[in-house]
Amino acid sequence: MRTRSTFKHSLLLAGLLSALSGVLLLPVVVRAGGPLIVGGPGYGVEGQPFVWDTSAPVQYRVDGGPLARKPDGTVTVNNATGVARVQAMFQVWQNMPTANITFTYAGPLQSYGAFSDGDVSTVEEYDAVMGSCNDGVQSPVIFDADGSIFYQLLGDSAIIGFAGPCQLDPATGHILSAGGMFNGQNRDGINTPDSYPANYEMTAAEFDEAVAHELGHFVGLDHSQINTEVLFEPFGACSVDDLAGLPLMFPYAICQARSTAGLPMLAPDDLAWVSELYPETANAPPDRIPFNTRYGTLRGTILFSDGETPAQGLNVIARSTTTPQRVAVSVFSGYLFTGNPGQTVTGDNDFGTPLGSRNPLLMGTYDIPVPPGSYYVWVESVSPLLAGAELGPLYPPIPNPSHGEYWNANESATDHELTQDAVTVAAGAIVSDLNIILNGTPPRFDSFESSQLWLIDPPPAWLREEDLDPSPLEA
Ligand SMILES: [Zn+2]
Repeated sequence: MRTRSTFKHSLLLAGLLSALSGVLLLPVVVRAGGPLIVGGPGYGVEGQPFVWDTSAPVQYRVDGGPLARKPDGTVTVNNATGVARVQAMFQVWQNMPTANITFTYAGPLQSYGAFSDGDVSTVEEYDAVMGSCNDGVQSPVIFDADGSIFYQLLGDSAIIGFAGPCQLDPATGHILSAGGMFNGQNRDGINTPDSYPANYEMTAAEFDEAVAHELGHFVGLDHSQINTEVLFEPFGACSVDDLAGLPLMFPYAICQARSTAGLPMLAPDDLAWVSELYPETANAPPDRIPFNTRYGTLRGTILFSDGETPAQGLNVIARSTTTPQRVAVSVFSGYLFTGNPGQTVTGDNDFGTPLGSRNPLLMGTYDIPVPPGSYYVWVESVSPLLAGAELGPLYPPIPNPSHGEYWNANESATDHELTQDAVTVAAGAIVSDLNIILNGTPPRFDSFESSQLWLIDPPPAWLREEDLDPSPLEA
């Protein structure tokens, strides 16, 4: 179903969605196709993604008001249905048999500060509830039933929702609270995309997937870039092969709902990464499946043309040799390394983010969890069309002078980009040293090893303060 008048609208909508997903507001956080936030020395576990403690269910609370209502106040999706929908979308992530994370609905939102009536309906109440999230009091899911809070905060009605971790534990590397908000205007039964302000409408299935996408950020996943050709397909009518491999965590909501195409809600990339972050172990209950019996790992380093200097922030995709569009898993090179390593100019990262490893051995490296099988490994730049989503550890991302290239067994700076060799990996196995030497780069890109150095030198005070308080939803 075509719910928006133009492709541009959809890009706008999705771009803003992604910008609010706990990414843009934390400018120098280490991010990747997999984890959203990675620990650094003295902040979390260095080189390890921030994750929830899964020894007990993750508890979340939900707004007590309706999910959606018309401007005249008529409720179109009531609270019970909204709560049930959120629960069902948490269940989608919980149901993955190779991932060990469970969720519990802990009840309606707790009162906090200026919020006491159970229904977040003003910016003041929103601020109070997000304050409770930042203080680690609760993990709130907020319904902005008529979209007025989104509009007041952001000046645009074309936003579906956002979510992300609120409070992190720098000692343990755990996410302590997370939150998000959904725009019920997308389910108010009114579709006037050309009005001002616009009022968009989504199907229930599309809205469900937007909820599930945001809950992916809630559990600590970042965006992924796979099958970007969907950007050039008719809006809401992507090819099923492309859609099958398109991550739910793709930053743009431009295809038809996966369920309407007969596909499971989570793509192979989503399954692999939630399982990598929360691997089910051999001690798992009988209805679960140990991660390492269903996944192997492809590992390597992306290098500049000198063949020695690691390149950060490129998108690396492993594609099945037999179903390359449908089974694909990605990550960004250097995803565990800080996005701001510091250099002689800024003085060894004094002003940098506390997040991300400083271990130089992790620069430019990638790890891709994949189902057992045979794969081609491809490296490419972050798509300029997705730049607003801030993919990868560098922003702006490093430009790849080539249009991407495959790994082959005789890597060099002068091999043909399309020369490819298949890599076969078994469950529980790691295939290492799949290093790709980029063609046609200068020997190294000093100016890109810290995007902050390139962009802002020295960083302004607000950026430094932001870095020291990595709470995406607070900014
Ligand atoms: Zn997102």
